[in-house]
Amino acid sequence: MQTIIEPFRIKSVEPIYFTTKEQRISILEKAYYNPFFIHADDVLIDLLTDSGTSAMSSHQWAGIMKGDESYAGSPSYYAFKSAVQDITHMPEVIPTHQGRAAEKILFSILGGKGKYFASNTLFDTTRANIEFSGAEGVDLLCEEGKHPIIPAPFKGNMDVDALKQFIAEKGAGNIPLCILTITNNSGGGQPVSMKNIRDVKQVCRENNIPLFIDACRFAENSYFIKLREEGYANKSVKEIANEIFSYADGCTMSAKKDAFANIGGFLAMNDKELATKCRNLLIITEGFPTYGGLAGRDLEAIAIGLNEVMDEHYLQYRIRSIEYLTNKLIEAGIPVMQPAGGHAVYIDAKEFLPHIPVEQYPGQALVGSLYTEGGIRSVEIGSLMFGKYDDNKKLIPAQMELVRLAIPRRVYTQSHIDYVAEVIIEVFNNRYNIKGLSIIEEAPILRHFTVKLKPVTE
Ligand SMILES: *Cc1c(COP(=O)(O)O)cnc(C)c1O
Repeated sequence: MQTIIEPFRIKSVEPIYFTTKEQRISILEKAYYNPFFIHADDVLIDLLTDSGTSAMSSHQWAGIMKGDESYAGSPSYYAFKSAVQDITHMPEVIPTHQGRAAEKILFSILGGKGKYFASNTLFDTTRANIEFSGAEGVDLLCEEGKHPIIPAPFKGNMDVDALKQFIAEKGAGNIPLCILTITNNSGGGQPVSMKNIRDVKQVCRENNIPLFIDACRFAENSYFIKLREEGYANKSVKEIANEIFSYADGCTMSAKKDAFANIGGFLAMNDKELATKCRNLLIITEGFPTYGGLAGRDLEAIAIGLNEVMDEHYLQYRIRSIEYLTNKLIEAGIPVMQPAGGHAVYIDAKEFLPHIPVEQYPGQALVGSLYTEGGIRSVEIGSLMFGKYDDNKKLIPAQMELVRLAIPRRVYTQSHIDYVAEVIIEVFNNRYNIKGLSIIEEAPILRHFTVKLKPVTE
């Protein structure tokens, strides 16, 4: 088979800055072993997130110039609305400044004490917004999804039996929404199958519970369905996306992912009454309903990006580049989530660093070593992000200790990725020198963003 090439040429470049290992050791210490405190120009390859870090196309940049900044009724809003509707067929489209703003509005209205939200896996901001409202979020991931090393085609699926049981336990009246995150970000960027979406919808319909899609990576998920699910090989990505949204009553989206935009998001739904309530809150927190916290130029860039992302040459390259890095690591014996997800490579830090107990955050320790060894910035998705404390202040660990290497869209080339693999292999060969970490300071919610740590010494 021929090499799958980057389906673009480079017109404008950004420099990256080189540092020595000694410099990086000192930078990491000053950043309290938290990658969010490192200055971006001290990073060589930035795999912290794929959010807002995409390279926009020349068409999108042209759209930026075309953007209309009228306070009300901007043509850029109508272009945006029409792009969203083309994919979702939902009548109500509400722009927000990013995904979590859509979540904040939705859960302020539907959440509250005594309410439960069931999901395959809630993303961290989604969970935080649910909990901030006083409600509880529950992850009902399928069994395959809980085993990082065992491959399966749709590890992002929801456990439908667990959902039925959950509804029976809590009462449908206390569950305002069921949420499917596609692809399943926290669970490994793993896709959800069309069959699973259909089955979840069926249970929701029987119980009168609306189904919402966290649609941040709808195009990557649709492409996985095309590749892996029977009956979809000859359908276009757009047709697949249309079918996904046909089962949903609404969706939230961060345009910083599968819309190649640097900022933006939206809330879309069928229910007019709920949309009115959302717009009333939007006006207080985000802005008038035809711009919702965004500039007209952002709306224009999102509208164009939503179409570009469904291009199958792009998606083939996108999915292949994640798989390429995953396979290189597997060949070197490194424990990674399998099969490759849609936007990131996940290293199983518990297996990688068996000598570091979960109370010493092996994922965060590995994040630090990847930075000092090669200037690569990654993020922990484990007990630092999702851990809780019991009444005795003892850590209740997360289900998995993962390190995520998120690949920005259209940004790095194959040689960058080859370098990343070399650095990880080098760290793996010296892994028993890596020490665990302990927390010096932390916030009560979303602590991984601002936590300060130090190496465990003894
Ligand atoms: C990024 C993300 C969000 C939140 O979006 P922001 O634009 O970062 O606020 C919600 N859900 C998922 C699955 C995401 O990946």
